[in-house]
Amino acid sequence: MVWREVISKTARFLEDRNVPDAQVAAELMVARLLGSSRGFLVSEMEKEASERHLAAMRRGMARLSAGEPVQYVLGEWDFRRLTLKCDKRALIPRPETEQLVERVLAHLSAMKGAPGLVIDVGTGTGAIILSIAAEFRGGGVFLGTDVSEDAIALATENAGRCGLSDRVRFAVADGLDDFDEPQSVDVIVSNPPYVATSVCEKLDRRVRDYEPRIALDGGAEGLDFYERYLADALNLLKPGGAVFFEIGEGQGDAVGSMMAGYGFTGIKVEKDFAGLDRYASGVLP
Ligand code: GLN
Repeated sequence: MVWREVISKTARFLEDRNVPDAQVAAELMVARLLGSSRGFLVSEMEKEASERHLAAMRRGMARLSAGEPVQYVLGEWDFRRLTLKCDKRALIPRPETEQLVERVLAHLSAMKGAPGLVIDVGTGTGAIILSIAAEFRGGGVFLGTDVSEDAIALATENAGRCGLSDRVRFAVADGLDDFDEPQSVDVIVSNPPYVATSVCEKLDRRVRDYEPRIALDGGAEGLDFYERYLADALNLLKPGGAVFFEIGEGQGDAVGSMMAGYGFTGIKVEKDFAGLDRYASGVLP
């Protein structure tokens, strides 16, 4: 069978089993197997697929049909400029989060002098802090923390494969609990778990059954982690230091007033490309 046929049969098979974006998923699987990019598949189309490759395709199709997210089946996913290893140890990096990084980069570039310490709390794959370190032109110390040892192992692997091991450190830590040096941090950034506990069961099954629940469940209202991190940030941030959060749709008012309550100024609540509340930031005077 030539690849053209493999792709169309795979796409049809996946579509019949309600796998979203079946054609793209089929092409991505083939591209991954051939070590190619989707755009270069054209040159492979009339070539014969080996039995070993067909077996790998069948394994991937079975996983996708069972409901596993395509990112986990592929084992890697692009986030901004980086291709990150991606598996069930951490939340899949989402496109909305790329815009959280954009906001932090703008803040760092506007700072006078090089930033000292930037911490990404609940780093997961490491997507946020690795992207910041990869793209920010100035110096600085970049640290990612996660309560999950599995996530930190994955983030550390990602630092290695992105050539950023020298620039980014990772540590297992529960929130900001292990940090106690007052006024030592310039920026705290986080995409914390923010789904209300009662909503977790109603999420798409690809998210609900495969992604780590501790990366999603933000407590009764989904707001627990903002409260915690803001309280810690008060002590840890330098004057003029900033927090940048990804937030859930509809959480803008709540997180904005929480920040105001803690004395943050310059509070911004912004929407993502879908028009939903997605980012909240503030500066400590
Ligand atoms: N955006 C994710 C979702 O809707 C949630 C991520 C998070 O809780 N930080 O599935």
